[in-house]
Amino acid sequence: MPRELKPCGTRAAAQRHRRHGEEVCPDCKAAEREHRRKYARRDRVEKTIQVDFGGANTTDPLTVARENLAIVTATLRSDKCLPKDIVPLTKRREELVQLVQQLSTQHEEERMEQQGAEVAENVAEAAFRPTAV
Ligand SMILES: [Zn+2]
Repeated sequence: MPRELKPCGTRAAAQRHRRHGEEVCPDCKAAEREHRRKYARRDRVEKTIQVDFGGANTTDPLTVARENLAIVTATLRSDKCLPKDIVPLTKRREELVQLVQQLSTQHEEERMEQQGAEVAENVAEAAFRPTAV
C-alpha cells in the first residue's frame, strides 16, 4: 500500500515539491510562511524572562550591575537557557559578581570616608565651640 501523501497547503507537501525538484506551489508556500510566523512568535515569547526590579529606574552602577547579575542568573536557571548560552552567560556572571563586589567595596569606603569626615567636622566644631564660662 502506498504511503498517503499530504495534500498541498502543508509543509510536508512543500518539502515533497522540493524533493521532486518542483516549484513550491502558492498553497504550500503559504503553509510554510504560516508555520515560520507562528514558530518565530512562540520562540520570542518563550525567550522572555521576567526579572522584577521593584520598579526601580536607576543609573547607579552598583544597582545596574546587581540587576544585570539577576538577569543573567535568572536566565541560567530558567529552561530558556540554551546549551550554547551557558559558557557566555556563566562568564558574564563571574564578571558581574566581581564588578558588584568591587563597586560594593567602593561604596563602603566612600560611606566610611563620609562618616569619617562628618566625625572630624563634629570634632572640629566642638573644638571651636565657645565654652560658657
Ligand atoms: Zn503544493
